[in-house]
Amino acid sequence: MTPQRQMLFGLLHGNGVHPTAESLYAAAREQMPTISLRTVYQTLNDLEAMGEIHQLDVGTGSSRFDPNTDAHHHLVCERCGKVRDIYADFPGLTVPRGRAQGFAVNAVEVVFRGVCDECRDETVPKRKEVNG
Ligand SMILES: [Zn+2]
Ligand SMILES: [Zn+2]
Repeated sequence: MTPQRQMLFGLLHGNGVHPTAESLYAAAREQMPTISLRTVYQTLNDLEAMGEIHQLDVGTGSSRFDPNTDAHHHLVCERCGKVRDIYADFPGLTVPRGRAQGFAVNAVEVVFRGVCDECRDETVPKRKEVNG
């Protein structure tokens, strides 16, 4: 493993926030000031090709990187782009009979979209205490 790979793998290991390449670049530069964004992208692609991480597009504008290579699903905040893992089985979730269009389905990934707790707190007006 190159030092760049080792560092990025270290930044992602146990990291549940599904960071973007840009945010990983910012963190990587603190440890390796000469690293370029291009190297970060390339290294992330290498790690994905090696099966060490997953790259996912959940519609937040940038690819997200996930060290969690077990089958799981995601919760996505439509306001701030926060992504969290969900481990759950959806045993009834199959392509309806006659709709598979010749596909043999190997995996199912579910994205639940909504608003996270932090964004919800921002929209709920704080109750004002009125004294006299
Ligand atoms: Zn949010
Ligand atoms: Zn994930």
